[in-house]
Amino acid sequence: MKLKVLNPATGEVAALLDADDARTVKLKYREARTAQPAWARTPMRKRLAAVAAFRERVVAEADSLAKILTTEVGKPISQSRNELKGVLPRIDFFLAETARTLKPEKVFADAQGSMEERISHEPLGVVANISAWNYPWFVGANVFVPALLAGNAVLYKPSEYASLTGLEIARLLHESGVPSDVFIPLIGAGPVGAALLAQPVDGVFFTGSHDTGRKIAEAVRGRMIKLQLELGGKDPVYVCEDVDVAKAAAGIADGAFYNTGQSCCSVERIYVNERIFKPFVDAFVAEVKGYKRGDPADDGTYIGPLTRAPQLKVLESQVKDARKKGAKILTGGERVKAKGNWFEPTVLVDVSHAMDVMRDESFGPVIGIMPVRSDAEAVRLMNDTEYGLTAGVYTRDRKRAEKILAEVHSGSVYWNCCDRVSPRLPWSGVGNSGIGVTLSTYGIETFTRPKAWHLRSA
Ligand code: NAD
Repeated sequence: MKLKVLNPATGEVAALLDADDARTVKLKYREARTAQPAWARTPMRKRLAAVAAFRERVVAEADSLAKILTTEVGKPISQSRNELKGVLPRIDFFLAETARTLKPEKVFADAQGSMEERISHEPLGVVANISAWNYPWFVGANVFVPALLAGNAVLYKPSEYASLTGLEIARLLHESGVPSDVFIPLIGAGPVGAALLAQPVDGVFFTGSHDTGRKIAEAVRGRMIKLQLELGGKDPVYVCEDVDVAKAAAGIADGAFYNTGQSCCSVERIYVNERIFKPFVDAFVAEVKGYKRGDPADDGTYIGPLTRAPQLKVLESQVKDARKKGAKILTGGERVKAKGNWFEPTVLVDVSHAMDVMRDESFGPVIGIMPVRSDAEAVRLMNDTEYGLTAGVYTRDRKRAEKILAEVHSGSVYWNCCDRVSPRLPWSGVGNSGIGVTLSTYGIETFTRPKAWHLRSA
């Protein structure tokens, strides 16, 4: 079987890859199962050295890796370079923290020294890593780097929209000293992911949409294995009346439209205090109109194509639904008539929570802006969602921001920033945004199970 890789900017075939099927998935699972114990016994310093060598290779090949990413997902080249640069601090965090986090810990010893209690961190075993295309380096590394460092074998299924990058990641890991049967890529779409879940893996780490996340949860139901689901969001931002309007509008527009709006933590809803609604919207629309849309291979391009053609219909339908219910389009609103998957950056006002655009993940360059009368109303609207990945508040007043953010149900909260991820902080969602944690020391421990040692000397 072949997997066709399309260039989203042109619709042309960029590559034809050999794809996996149920038979090869099973064989690869067996290979990983056989290889994992030796990898777990490999000293931590050697595993760290392999990941450090991988980091160096990523740096050395960053230019060509960025071009591959741009070719297959359509990410503007400057943003592909940013992703390759941005993955380095994440790797550095894991290199610095894993040995310390996973060190066996003596938690008790009695005065006579006859009874000791200890916790060790054991790898889960063979883990499935089913990944998304929108930031394949980021969301991939959040999982496979700590999973490998903790002594697991990883069956890595990159998205079918980011398979060239997935294969590059595998090549670089193997060249860096991670055995080829300890990190194994699986190429293909949903059915290959489903075939992977049919194997008796010890953990499933998934990044993708809520719809697929539910299917994954169903597929592993009844099995006593670890399941992590990093899913979508409908992330709100609230702008208070005391902000520097131009600065806030520029920052939030970037949070909404960076990566052509295809980030799990993209700003997807904006609430603005009614006292500054008009100047904020004017500044926001001016900012969006200034974005350069075009060939993602050009250095100056900010808005590229959508990675997936079917998402064009989702955006069209959200805009149509909003229009029907009274929304006004201030800019954009249409698919671009050209080869490839292009949609105009779109700003809507006169929107309400009766509209799909304010409820369902858009995952594209479309945003609705709503006025609010008070902080209480903003909090109510921010929490009126089934998702809970990130939420932000813009104000000069830190106390006010912290009060609002304490009331928001969300995995991450931001004051005067948005669309931001830190390796030092846990990345997680509430509600339909998922279960489990990546990043931070929690995101290292999660690839292990604690083993309790009760040691009596006599
Ligand atoms: P998707 O759900 O379409 O696909 C994700 C992965 O699941 C792909 O590798 C796909 O091949 C695989 N898959 C599809 N059907 C499957 C099945 N039945 N069984 C097993 N695997 C299957 O998501 P996507 O389009 O790749 O990514 C976009 C989504 O991911 C958005 O909703 C975005 O918000 C979310 N996301 C979340 C985070 C986060 O950290 N929370 C990060 C990035 C993206």
